Amino acid sequence: MTAAPETTVSARFLGLLARDLPPDRLTTDPAELAAHATDRSGTPPGGEPLAVVRARRTGDVTVTLRHANALGIPVVPRGAGTGLSGGATAGEGALVLDLSGMNRILELSAEDQLAVVEPGVITAELDRAAGTHGLRYAPDPASAAMSTIGGNIATNAGGLRCAKYGVTRDSVLGLEAVLADGTVIATGRRTVKGVTGYDLTALLTGSEGTLAVITSATLRLRPTPVATATLAAWFDSFETAAEASYAIARAGVVPALAELVDGPVLHAIDPALSERGAALLVVQCDGAGAAAEAAAVARVLAPLASAVQSTEDPVEAEALLAARRLALPALERLGRPLIEDIVVPRSRLAEAVREIRCISARHDVPVFTIAHAADGNLHPIIVVDPTLDRLPDAAWEAAGEIFALALRLGGTLTGEHGVGVLKRQWVADELGPTAHALQRRLKDVFDPRHILNPGKGL
Ligand SMILES: Cc1cc2nc3c(=O)[nH]c(=O)nc-3n(C[C@H](O)[C@H](O)[C@H](O)COP(=O)(O)OP(=O)(O)OC[C@H]3O[C@@H](n4cnc5c(N)ncnc54)[C@H](O)[C@@H]3O)c2cc1C
Repeated sequence: MTAAPETTVSARFLGLLARDLPPDRLTTDPAELAAHATDRSGTPPGGEPLAVVRARRTGDVTVTLRHANALGIPVVPRGAGTGLSGGATAGEGALVLDLSGMNRILELSAEDQLAVVEPGVITAELDRAAGTHGLRYAPDPASAAMSTIGGNIATNAGGLRCAKYGVTRDSVLGLEAVLADGTVIATGRRTVKGVTGYDLTALLTGSEGTLAVITSATLRLRPTPVATATLAAWFDSFETAAEASYAIARAGVVPALAELVDGPVLHAIDPALSERGAALLVVQCDGAGAAAEAAAVARVLAPLASAVQSTEDPVEAEALLAARRLALPALERLGRPLIEDIVVPRSRLAEAVREIRCISARHDVPVFTIAHAADGNLHPIIVVDPTLDRLPDAAWEAAGEIFALALRLGGTLTGEHGVGVLKRQWVADELGPTAHALQRRLKDVFDPRHILNPGKGL
């Protein structure tokens, strides 16, 4: 983190914002500051932010950044604050730039199957609006009812359906963004294809608010599938369920989603669920061939599962998926979850599950696991006592070993939640010194004074 700016500089900055922004944008109300200081990771912010700017227009962002850059004030862009890696935490002296009020859908074109939206639009609301045109916004983080499109783009969010439709980056065609000095840039295009110049849209997607502030996005929409077919398979062990997930990929079927939940998570959601098996795998196929694909998946799962239930009724399918979506809130009722987000090659999913069990036993730290299994994306979750002011050493050691495991198996530290502050100490291990240094030089180009979300990401 950069040091807090001097009080006189801060006061001058607030004076300039009060002068140049419309009257309802700036607040220093202590309750607002506290509400904007951390995110769903529960990472302690390390001090009180200076102020919050509630942006309503791109002009509010340019004014804020121009003054912040001139005076060296750290700025933390923020959507809904549902992030799980501490990316939106704002410490002592930082200005929180809240984009959630820029929440208009500016255009929805059924002809070109795209939408142009402001960053504060809630993910599920865009999907709903697209649905009225027979389209959908494919990325669907489990937080879709709360998270913003801007936050999704800044973290390159994944979700359930990205098994087939890709992560957020695969749906972002172009961006309007404001650089650290207040300059507005446009990246990308409205066409399905296009390769002119370096791909700044892709670079900004997943940059965690450290390179620019996203003020509008042109997003690809896709036709709503004509049919879906969903399977729920129960297993006697989590490892067998992980093997079964990979068997689906090996059989050449690409499901729209494959969500895996272990026994302890099932128990946290509802003890009755854990009586049905030690793991649950929910698989959904979609499109004209959904029923045939689901039948093929059922054949793959049958020898491994203790029970397989199938449905083509969307309401029943949603009920099966509801349990998965309740996983995190259920664990939050048990304590403060430290959520990991590793990805391993799908062929090594069962090995990862086995090793995580050993790490958990070795450190005597219970680990709850859910997974976007079709991507090899595991969320091992360590739940700690929420009254502790710091994470116990055993929890950090277990977390560190899980990251090391991911890298050893040929995987990555984070599949969708981003580095934020929580995974920063392991980034160099994955990138290596040369790529890490190059990425830092990119940061210098976009944000020479390092005012944008300092202390996050790299
Ligand atoms: C119950 C639950 C389930 C979840 N499930 C998933 C899941 O399935 N997949 C997944 O990927 N994530 C998931 N998440 C994590 C989280 O919802 C995502 O990371 C989401 O993309 C964050 O969006 P947000 O609007 O809350 O962003 P915030 O938390 O406010 O910010 C996240 C990061 O983006 C930056 N940022 C925000 N807006 C902008 C902007 N306009 N310009 C530049 N930078 C910006 C912030 O500085 C920060 O670094 C889940 C979270 C919860 C609580």
